Amino acid sequence: MARMSGATWRPVPNRTLNGQSEVRGVVVHIMAGTLAGTDAWFRNPAAQASSHFGTGRSGALYQWVSTSDRAWAQSAGNRSWLSVENEGKGGDKLTESQLDRNAQVLAWAHEQYDVPLKLASGPSDRGLGYHAMGGSAWGGHTQCPGSKIVAQLPEIVKRAKALVGEPTASDGASTSGTSTYTVKQGDTLSAIAKAHATTVAKLVSLNTLKDPDGLAVGQKLKLPAKKPAAPLYEPFPGAAFFHGGRTSPIITAMGRRLVQEGCAVYQNGPGPNWTNADKESYRRWQKRLGYTGDAADGIPGPSSWAKLRVPNV
Ligand SMILES: [Zn+2]
Repeated sequence: MARMSGATWRPVPNRTLNGQSEVRGVVVHIMAGTLAGTDAWFRNPAAQASSHFGTGRSGALYQWVSTSDRAWAQSAGNRSWLSVENEGKGGDKLTESQLDRNAQVLAWAHEQYDVPLKLASGPSDRGLGYHAMGGSAWGGHTQCPGSKIVAQLPEIVKRAKALVGEPTASDGASTSGTSTYTVKQGDTLSAIAKAHATTVAKLVSLNTLKDPDGLAVGQKLKLPAKKPAAPLYEPFPGAAFFHGGRTSPIITAMGRRLVQEGCAVYQNGPGPNWTNADKESYRRWQKRLGYTGDAADGIPGPSSWAKLRVPNV
């Protein structure tokens, strides 16, 4: 998978075809400009610049480069990291919508490439990183994305965890979410994978193994984080899930929570069909959370959904 569903696909010429040798994580940038201006710039071959993803301050999400291709965003960091440019100027914080969008990209990278949902400590680590962490090898962009956004990165990790249904009790900054296994005489990767309810492919990618058959006794292997058998809360099904004609027990479960929160306006129900009463009830929940204008449109979004804590159905 090289294109993220939910992102608007806007391919640009500035990229290295099949140039992504691995995906260690996601790097956050600030455009120091607008989404439209950046979109035009990445289409200009003379710019010699691009990124995989871009967000707008009101919630647009573009994908400019397939994640199997290398984008040109952070010099030596391009081969191993995906990139997200964010609309705004130096010193800005990300908006609520941008936090959600970055969390969606990180959650997607977790699903596709096993990127751990934690902050990366530097270019040789994995997880959520930012441009300046690469230092001069990454172009020396010490002001990208700026200290206010760096301070928001734990919130992105937290939201990404909510999206994939991982517990968020830990701070996300220091826990790797993985455990290790020490290779013993006679072990094979497939046996280790089986014993730990994972796959050879996951172990190979998590440990960046060059030769899966060449295990050495005493070698330490990272194991993927154990996920709970079923998440406690229903993962966000995506905004597009909610439309007239949709019938799902998720909608009933959501409606029951809205009743509990005192936001419900149901005449009958809640029930499994998405109705105007669901939308109006959800709008009241969004307003409760302090959303206004278009952000309180009655269509669930990932962060209001996470806060509602709809039980897993
Ligand atoms: Zn940057």
